Amino acid sequence: MQIKIHAWSKMLKERIGRHRMKIGALEAGGTKMVCAIGTDRGEILDRIEIKTETPEVTMAKIIDYFRQFDIAALGVGCFGPIDIHKESETYGYITATTKLAWVNYNIVGTLEEALGVKVGFDTDVNGSALGEATWGITQGIQNSMYITIGTGIGAGVISEGRLLHGMLHPETGHIQMKQHPKDIFTGWCPYHGTCFEGMAAGPAIEKRWGKKAVELSDTMEVWEMEAYYIAQALVSYTMILSPERIVLGGGVMKQTQLLPLVHAEFKRQMAGYIQTKEIAKIEDFIVLASLQDDQGILGAVQLGVEALAV
Ligand code: ADP
Ligand code: ZN
Repeated sequence: MQIKIHAWSKMLKERIGRHRMKIGALEAGGTKMVCAIGTDRGEILDRIEIKTETPEVTMAKIIDYFRQFDIAALGVGCFGPIDIHKESETYGYITATTKLAWVNYNIVGTLEEALGVKVGFDTDVNGSALGEATWGITQGIQNSMYITIGTGIGAGVISEGRLLHGMLHPETGHIQMKQHPKDIFTGWCPYHGTCFEGMAAGPAIEKRWGKKAVELSDTMEVWEMEAYYIAQALVSYTMILSPERIVLGGGVMKQTQLLPLVHAEFKRQMAGYIQTKEIAKIEDFIVLASLQDDQGILGAVQLGVEALAV
């Protein structure tokens, strides 16, 4: 990828140079870093993927990539936990991650210093929530959530038009679950066992059934149990946060049979307690992500756009 980028660099710069304002975007993940050049109109002009290795190796490649372009700002949606409190001494750091080489790494400071632009910074799921709210299916909605069900489970919450941060950032994947009556799996979260992530993320499905989730498409029992846990979490989120729309993304949601099961199970578990026009149209209330897996990188673009306004 890098070699290709350098070979095409001149042509790229000419093509991309025509755009009025270019925003750098970084979706920082534990396995890969997606770097892109976007615009404040939500277009992606170029992108590359870089394998996540140590900060020394990986950050040098990221910085090289962005230095090719005249970016006005950079947005970063980052794996966590991270420090997003502006007044904190360790603002912009990746903190206690299981990726040991990145523990206490000042990712924002490094990028600001190397690129000389303002850097917007938030969690990866908050980025996806912002991407959908700016250019996707929750555009114009003041209260929404984006939940990813993949290797882990997390959510970005938009409340009254703003990303919810609070003390740290919400950790919605780690709420405790009531066990499905037929489930004997004890969960895999090292902290909580049977929390939502421990019971329903991709690895939980694999450990419970002894096969990869993608190989279990035809086994209804798998998806009924999965829907039971997802709906249980969504009912709790709805009670606590009162979203007007909930967006589901991540690898597990690629199983298209799952969403209708979640709809039915949500209604069953809600048991008619909340009756709003939103919940009455459940297909519009709980929806799939709409930006073809670009919600994260587009959210990072928007984090960059918002950093310019500060
Ligand atoms: P990540 O969470 O690592 O960013 P993903 O959202 O793709 O990435 O999640 C990966 C997880 O999703 C894996 O545990 C895998 O089992 C599951 N997964 C990926 N694709 C599918 C699929 N088509 N059907 C079911 N599960 C899937
Ligand atoms: Zn947990």
